[in-house]
Amino acid sequence: MEWLFLLLPIAALSGWLSARKHYQKNYNPKQSPFDPEYFKGLNYLLNEQPDKAIDVFIRLLEVNSETVETHLALANLFRRRGETERAIRIHQNLIARPTLTPLQREQALIELGLDYMSAGVLDRAELLFLELLNSASPPSDAYDHLLNIYQQERQWQKAINIAKKLHSQDPQKKKAEIAQFYCELAEEAPSSMSQEALILLKKASQFDSNCVRAALLKANLHIKDGHYKKALKSLEHIEQQDPHYIPEALPLLKTCYQQLEKLPAFNIWLKSILIRHPIMTSVHLMLTQVIEIQYGHREAQNYLQQQLKHNPSIEGLDTLLSLGDITSPTLIPLVQDTTHDILQKKRNYLCHQCGFSGKTMHWHCPSCKQWSTIRPTELHSSTLEQILET
Ligand SMILES: [Zn+2]
Repeated sequence: MEWLFLLLPIAALSGWLSARKHYQKNYNPKQSPFDPEYFKGLNYLLNEQPDKAIDVFIRLLEVNSETVETHLALANLFRRRGETERAIRIHQNLIARPTLTPLQREQALIELGLDYMSAGVLDRAELLFLELLNSASPPSDAYDHLLNIYQQERQWQKAINIAKKLHSQDPQKKKAEIAQFYCELAEEAPSSMSQEALILLKKASQFDSNCVRAALLKANLHIKDGHYKKALKSLEHIEQQDPHYIPEALPLLKTCYQQLEKLPAFNIWLKSILIRHPIMTSVHLMLTQVIEIQYGHREAQNYLQQQLKHNPSIEGLDTLLSLGDITSPTLIPLVQDTTHDILQKKRNYLCHQCGFSGKTMHWHCPSCKQWSTIRPTELHSSTLEQILET
């Protein structure tokens, strides 16, 4: 019901504006500043008879084209309430009026497109927005809504075409999005077409040189083809692109270094990362794994124990416990249960834009619909408070 009260000032303002115009031309203090038909319409709305109210407002429109804004506001309210059929009815009626200015018509068409979108009739919305793009000066909203539709429908090539038009108007615009769309196309390519996929990923990097996803996908393709050196080059570059994503690259890096039989070099690389990012738990844990392979159980345990003193983390504690050497038969299983329990509850991925958290990686945030805003999260004491705050 609260939306009805939003309508009152809009209707009142609209009435007042037309009244003022009227008075300027022809002053008559006895005449009411409001059209009585409005009160009739409002009355129907307040009595929850929206269809009768719409009839009244539509009749009013025929008499008075100054009320276009009111109609747009009313239809938007219906749409926001999920009553898309009513919104569509009002917008279609508006568009049919010959008295509309071109700008008002364009606005009503965009709104009708949004009605179709919220009704889930995406193909009709698409046609409408495409038609708007054919006009002499296409409204920028139409591009954004089309982009929205193509992302929902996962029509990545069409999304790229639209995004490129916006990009050509302003080279700073849509770079990251275009890169993500190419990554989507590359992921869809059948496994027999890795060359084609690599070309798509190259295009992704051309638009956004910091596209971590393209680097990871490229590395995966190279690994599949047995080109471990090429994969390494792509993976090690992720630190320059965005060090937050290093944890995503670690298992792939391990595969490459193992296949190349160069674990000592991996050991050195991990240590160099820790000089620049000393609290990255996942890197400490990967180094522990490498030490275990290279020098055995005890060395790995010693390393991790030392690290845990400086950077206490649940992941670290858990790994330490699973490395064995359990001297206390009751205490250790208890601690282990606790750590496992906490890790079970932990959300592994967090959107730094809107705070959405989940257990799987999404490159396109399901909540705020931004690209590359979700990052792997890590639980260590210094960031635990931060995570809980968001
Ligand atoms: Zn988000």
